[in-house]
Amino acid sequence: MLISITVPCYNEEKNIPAFYNVITEVAAGFEEGVDFEFIFVNDGSKDETYRVMKEYSEKDSRVKYVSFSRNFGKEAAMLAGLEAASGDYVVVIDADLQDPPELIKDMYQLMKSGEYERIATRRVDRKGEPVIRSFFAKTFYKLINKISNVKIVDGARDYSMMSRRMVDSVLSLKEKSRFTKGLFEWPGYKTKWLEFNNVARNEGGSKWSFFKLFSYSIEGIVAFSHFPLVLSSIMGVLLFFISLLFIVIIIVRKLVFGDEVTGWASTACIILMVAGLQQFSLGIIGSYLARVFVEVKDRPMYVVLDTNIDKTLPKKD
Ligand code: UDP
Ligand code: MG
Repeated sequence: MLISITVPCYNEEKNIPAFYNVITEVAAGFEEGVDFEFIFVNDGSKDETYRVMKEYSEKDSRVKYVSFSRNFGKEAAMLAGLEAASGDYVVVIDADLQDPPELIKDMYQLMKSGEYERIATRRVDRKGEPVIRSFFAKTFYKLINKISNVKIVDGARDYSMMSRRMVDSVLSLKEKSRFTKGLFEWPGYKTKWLEFNNVARNEGGSKWSFFKLFSYSIEGIVAFSHFPLVLSSIMGVLLFFISLLFIVIIIVRKLVFGDEVTGWASTACIILMVAGLQQFSLGIIGSYLARVFVEVKDRPMYVVLDTNIDKTLPKKD
């Protein structure tokens, strides 16, 4: 029985030692016959992350690393971790100790019962997070769950344990715009949710700026819902009926009151509004088209500079 722990790392030189100590302690508490591999993925860090993980790999043969040529984003780093993992169970966990490693024990027990293919986690509070950020996050979850057929859980972390079957299912999804929160739900396997309270980051700041989170949520909506496309048609139909109504009003006014030609201001407003809605629709179509473009180009998700994993990484051509 092998458990793979995969850790995406971007500028985590200070966190890796602390993380390594905690995770090896957790691993030591497991019964005989359960082996571990720790796969650190260096996502093009600008600090000494690569050197630190390499050092650990020389001291501890369970430590594996994959190092990217540049920063490809957490999604790519997680994907590389899953592809590199050969465990029966695979854990995805952050390097900053915001995901309590002790939970791995509970995850393992639940997983062993054979009832679940995935043990996932969610944060039950958003303490320490700016209010405005929580507000937008909540709105996003409400919205996406209304317009998508894959359920996206509020507060869901990427931190989870997956069975080999689940990992293979997730890896069979070849799309380039990877919105993991949706991809992990997509196979629809039985999932057990564990809850924990928000833990502050061990060292350094979050790498997620507000803008990054915003584009990530758009990514999620575009990847898992066609509703925005339908929205442009709905707007078109609505505007058409409104214009019919206006035509009737204008004709009646002309016949009954014999109005002069008026309405310069309202015409200007209408033109502006309709032009705005058209731009908005074009933008929506553009977002989908951009994704199509990315898929068609079919570029690899990441470039590996160095790794100590024998299992050759699946060829991403
Ligand atoms: N991370 C990564 N690539 C990135 C950004 C983040 O591999 O471009 C890793 C990071 O090192 C950490 C995890 O993803 O292990 C979560 O990042 P962070 O703590 O910044 O996010 P948050 O906890 O605020 O969601
Ligand atoms: Mg974090």
